[in-house]
Amino acid sequence: MPAFTACPGLFYATPAQDGILTRIRIPGGIINNQQFCAIADIADNCGGGYVDVTNRANIQIREIKSEISNNVYSHLQSLGIGANNPHVDHIRNIMTSPTAGIDAKEVIDTRPFVQAWDEYICNYPQLGALSAKFSVSFDGGGQVSVQGIVNDISLNAVLINNAVYFRLCLSFGEKGKLPEDTGILLTPDECLPVLAALAAVYLQYTDTTMRRKVRLREVINNLGVDKYLDLALGEKFTSRKSLHSISTSPNHNYSHVGIHRQKQPQLFYIGVVLPLGRLETWQIRGLVNIVEKLGNGNIRLTPWQNLLVTDIPAAKLVEVETEIVTLGLSYSPTNIQSALVACSGKRGCASAMTETKDHALALANYIQSHIALEQPINIHFSGCSKSCAQQNQGDITLLGVAVETENQTLPGYQVYLGDGSLQKFGRQIYDYVSFAELPQLIEKILRVYKNQRLNLDETFSNFITRHDIPELKQLLN
Ligand code: SF4
Repeated sequence: MPAFTACPGLFYATPAQDGILTRIRIPGGIINNQQFCAIADIADNCGGGYVDVTNRANIQIREIKSEISNNVYSHLQSLGIGANNPHVDHIRNIMTSPTAGIDAKEVIDTRPFVQAWDEYICNYPQLGALSAKFSVSFDGGGQVSVQGIVNDISLNAVLINNAVYFRLCLSFGEKGKLPEDTGILLTPDECLPVLAALAAVYLQYTDTTMRRKVRLREVINNLGVDKYLDLALGEKFTSRKSLHSISTSPNHNYSHVGIHRQKQPQLFYIGVVLPLGRLETWQIRGLVNIVEKLGNGNIRLTPWQNLLVTDIPAAKLVEVETEIVTLGLSYSPTNIQSALVACSGKRGCASAMTETKDHALALANYIQSHIALEQPINIHFSGCSKSCAQQNQGDITLLGVAVETENQTLPGYQVYLGDGSLQKFGRQIYDYVSFAELPQLIEKILRVYKNQRLNLDETFSNFITRHDIPELKQLLN
């Protein structure tokens, strides 16, 4: 078995409150029908009969009570799931836009870049010494962007004088900061060698024998970003640094939910809402059946814990819509669950103060029957400040806390409202709200936003940024 790592992987099953947890990397989030069925079989035979899609478009199987046999591992590897070399399998999933190759507005299809970097990692066993959190994203410049998600290294496509380049962005400074544009533009051919060089400097300046591997951010902070770039890339690249760097802001990108045209004429994709990223195995088999019959045999998982069914001919659209609904799933962007996120909560994690998942679903049921939304509002339940389920700021963050009284512990939530000008969760508006009080409070917040926004285009976050806390509290009262 590979060495211990704190991060779960296919070959690194990790104990959790509710049993063993295994995480399966799906590079770029694209999974085919055979692979998905094989994972559903494991969830049925060894786990809890469901899977969770994570915020890196991985798949997690939870509640594993019986051992996954070597034959099953080999079968998965033969289907292209899990690295042939288990020592590199724990490295973070490679992220890209779930609409790569089908987005009419993209500058370049990033799927080949994901595949090339994945193959590179698998072919160089020394990369097994990277931090399990070493994370890379490729953004093709399209409508469904992953630029607003924290990664150690982001390569973001831009078009300059009709030529495609990637902006090299690095995450350094404080924890949780979005990658910053270094000003270095790379041609598509340079991406892979540059990533390899950036990884090599990490290995050179890290004690790879340590059990806790430092993050790339810490290595860059110690060396300084200029020195790190010099060491990795040399003058050839750093002398090309442009004076204009582009800043990125966090985004909640739910524009993929619903029915959309692809860049291929007469083809559509449907963004399907997964309640809290969860799929029962019978739903997986139903989706596989849909994409075999009416799509292209693939399903795309998103870092927003939803999925896409793609390449649907216009004539088959209604049939696919009906089948999705038959599976108990929705594709409506105004469904509160389209942007509802919760970590595993008390049932799955010893650090959790609250039952986040149960509370999130109860809140969704309440909101759905009390207020209509015109666009997705991202509500994030986190059982503690570690914020595993969502690294970037939510519209509304509900942070689990426990208040001690003389004879009991009272679980509840701190309430934060997203404000792009602030780090982490945004503005704290209440420091303790019991779960019983929460649904009415969230309803009130949503009503105030709907009634007081400047126009239909003002986002929740912009609305919050426009008001200070006393003003917000006054509106709520
Ligand atoms: S955010 Fe905290 S409570 Fe939730 S899964 Fe992570 S460590 Fe556990």
